[in-house]
Formats: sequence, C-alpha cells, structure tokens
Amino acid sequence: MVAEAWIEELQGIVGKKNVTQNAPMSRYTTLRLGGPAELLCEITSEDALSRALAWASRHDVPLTVIGNGSNLLVKDGGIRGLVVHIGDGFSRISGPVPLPDGRFALTAQGGALLSSLANAAASHGLAGLEFSAGIPGTVGGAVYMNAGAYGGEMKDVVTSVTAYDFTGKPLAFLAEDLHFGYRQSRFSVEEPAAVATVTVTLSPGEEDAIWAAMREFNSRRKEKQPLQLPSCGSTFKRPPDRFTGPLIEKCDLKGCRIGGASVSQLHAGFLVNDQEGTAADFLALIAHVQRVVLEQTGVELQPEVRILGEDAPAREV
Ligand SMILES: Cc1cc2nc3c(=O)[nH]c(=O)nc-3n(C[C@H](O)[C@H](O)[C@H](O)COP(=O)(O)OP(=O)(O)OC[C@H]3O[C@@H](n4cnc5c(N)ncnc54)[C@H](O)[C@@H]3O)c2cc1C
Repeated sequence: MVAEAWIEELQGIVGKKNVTQNAPMSRYTTLRLGGPAELLCEITSEDALSRALAWASRHDVPLTVIGNGSNLLVKDGGIRGLVVHIGDGFSRISGPVPLPDGRFALTAQGGALLSSLANAAASHGLAGLEFSAGIPGTVGGAVYMNAGAYGGEMKDVVTSVTAYDFTGKPLAFLAEDLHFGYRQSRFSVEEPAAVATVTVTLSPGEEDAIWAAMREFNSRRKEKQPLQLPSCGSTFKRPPDRFTGPLIEKCDLKGCRIGGASVSQLHAGFLVNDQEGTAADFLALIAHVQRVVLEQTGVELQPEVRILGEDAPAREV
C-alpha cells in the first residue's frame, strides 16, 4: 500500500484533483472491465510527467503508463502502485512546420488521440496518416504498439519521439532508434519509458482525397468490426501469412462464450465484453480460442492486447 504521506507528495506534484485512489480501470479501458488502480494520476504537463515518474521511482512504487486504454486487459484484482494516465490533459498538437525537403512536421503530446492527429493532418492537406483515422488510441500508445491498419503503420510517419524513463529522466529518439516491428517498439520490448511527444513527417496531398480515404477506412471498420461493443480491437496478433479472424472462424468459434465475454459474430478476431464480463471471463476465452485454434490448425495465437494487473483474490467458500 502506498503511504498516505507519499500520496500527499504526489498530489503536490500533479495537483490534488489529478490523483484518484482506487480508480476503476473499467472506466479507463475500452474493454470496460478490470479491477481498480491503487492510485491513478492524470498528466497535464511534461514537468508533472517527469516528476510523477521520479516520485514512483524514489518510493519504489510499481508504475504503469496508459493512454486511451484501447489495447488493455486489466485483471480483476486491479493494478498495484501508480497508473500514469497520459490522455486528454496532455494532448496539444502543434505545427505544421515546413521542412527543407518540402514535407511538413506535426508534433503531438502523447495523450492526443491518433484520430485528432489524423484530422489535423487532413485539415492541413497533409497525407500519410489516413490509415490511422479509426484507431482509437493515443499517439503515445500508438508509438508504443506501432499501431497500424490498411497497409500503414506508425513506423512510416514517425520521425522523432521524446520520452521520460521510469526515473523521470528525459530521453530523445530518432525514428531509427525506435526499433519498430510488428505491433512493437523499443518501449515495448527493450526499455520502458513514457512517451511525451511524437513528431510525424507528412507530405502535401490533395485535401479532399485525404478526407475521402479516411472516410472509406472508417466505413470499412463500421461494416466489419463490432464497434458498438466493448473490445480491445483485434485480441490476437496476426500470425505470419494468416489472418486471425478467418482462422478463428474456421474453427467454428464465432459466438463462443465464456461468462460475459464472447467471440464477435461480426469479426471473429475481436473478442468482446458484451455481457458485462470479468477479466477472468475474457482471459478464459482467450485461452480457449488459443487452445482450439492450436489443436485444429497448428497455429499458436499470441495476444496483441496488453494484460496488466493482478488476479482477484480467491473467494472463500
Ligand atoms: C475498436 C478498436 C479497433 C482497433 N483497431 C486497431 C487497428 O486497426 N490497428 C491497431 O494497431 N490497433 C488497433 N486497436 C488497438 C489500439 O487502439 C492500439 O493498440 C492503440 O495504439 C493503443 O493506444 P492507447 O493509447 O489506447 O494505449 P493503451 O491501450 O492505453 O496502452 C497500450 C500499451 O501502450 C502503452 N502506452 C500507452 N500510452 C503510452 C505512453 N504515452 N508512453 C508509453 N507507453 C504507453 C501502455 O503501457 C500499454 O502497454 C483497436 C482497438 C479497438 C478498441
């Protein structure tokens, strides 16, 4: 448990109203489930971010950084220590800045929604981010995950990133240092850090065509994905040379249910929390789908969703 005096110290750093104790993670995740975070703080400035990270390091408080919670499965026992929420309060977008090669740079704070950055690019007639319009994450989360869709990914547009390590020390990276791979970056596989700002470089394009491409991608999503139901998008990574949805569908798992979680009838790659399920339901469904797909096709599905937190304590009977 985090000592009361330390909590007051954190309130002094990020502002009292920006610290919540026992914050229900169901409110911070698109899956709408999971236990509480012991402490959660909203970030509103770079200084607050750096000092909150230093606070956690100084007191040895376990640290978790989250964005829009659109790729998170928080277990029913919740998250110990501090959850740093980089969202709305830290979401300014600046630019475009013209570059010598005729392209333009836009810079976003880590909590800006990727869709807001894509809209800003389109309204300046800048092409390159169309693929990202319907991805419901923040810019920081998108860099961490190297989010992508429809043939594009963050790797194609990000040119630099500033971040803070988990002691609060500032870091700066050029694209080649970010070691982007399929749904991964240096932050997910090498060293944890909180992404503070992200600069993308985009080319001038035809504004109407950019908006049209974004509308087209969004309508494909509406048609093919269960966007009305709580989910974390594609629950599993795409295996080499295969598509996850058809693979799961082939195993006759569409509609398969454990408690309040089920395999979407619309898109089998999406597991949904359609009946107020628990994290335990969702984890059991993930394991069941993995087992059946392995038995029937020999393919080992790996979760794309990031699983955080503790199991709920066993109930006495
Ligand atoms: C309906 C739906 C559709 C989706 N479609 C796609 C898609 O087409 N393509 C795709 O790639 N993904 C998709 N996703 C998944 C998700 O939107 C992306 O993975 C997104 O990049 C996650 O961003 P986030 O801000 O929500 O991160 P979170 O879910 O909050 O966190 C994800 C990971 O990033 C880390 N993180 C978040 N913010 C930061 C930060 N500022 N600094 C350091 N680490 C951070 C967290 O620690 C965590 O490990 C979809 C999800 C949903 C619900």
